Amino acid sequence: LFAQSWDFMWGTKFFHQLPPIEGVEIAFAGRSNVGKSSLLNAITGRKSLARTSNTPGRTKELNFFRPEKDPTLVICDMPGYGYARASKKEVAAWNELILDYLRGRPNLRRVYVLIDSRHGLKPNDIEVMDTLDKAAVNYQVVLTKVDKTKLNDLKKIIGKVELGLKKRPAAHPEVLLTSSDKKIGIARLRSEMLLLSEG
Ligand code: GDP
Repeated sequence: LFAQSWDFMWGTKFFHQLPPIEGVEIAFAGRSNVGKSSLLNAITGRKSLARTSNTPGRTKELNFFRPEKDPTLVICDMPGYGYARASKKEVAAWNELILDYLRGRPNLRRVYVLIDSRHGLKPNDIEVMDTLDKAAVNYQVVLTKVDKTKLNDLKKIIGKVELGLKKRPAAHPEVLLTSSDKKIGIARLRSEMLLLSEG
């Protein structure tokens, strides 16, 4: 699947406009600037695929990508959260869309929650994980930009995050480490996604 070219399918702010259900869906969530577009580009092997979802107007939508010839795996790029400038109304609309999507998407197999390895968990990330636990959607934490973090700091963050995950019913216990710049963890993430799409 990752040898194929990936296409942008669809973007929407509305639950009733989601694309038809085709195969397994895997979603990526994270604070804005966490490195989500870079990671999606690294995974799909397209330099500018997720730029589509980073252009103004698309940033608050759910954006869907699929391999050109094979819709057995669909990636959903969820809107980045934690904008300092977002209004209460925007945050409320975002929360509603996300909740509807998480609760109402039967083919959603996993959400990867991206966390910047330099910053660790922020209150917004905790809220998102609370929502995922409540919606009983399987999720896993992915640390991004590990090339920028010293090994000792990285170990501390991993320990702290994994300890917190133990208490969370829908969370995968293990944290994945990635760097889109240095291509660390990309092959691992791809193979896990393939397994999820088959299982
Ligand atoms: P998004 O807002 O979550 O989509 O984040 P972007 O993918 O646009 O990345 C935000 C910033 O972090 C950009 O300046 C990227 O160049 C940088 N960045 C993303 N991934 C990595 C990485 O793996 N390593 C390093 N050092 N920087 C990264």
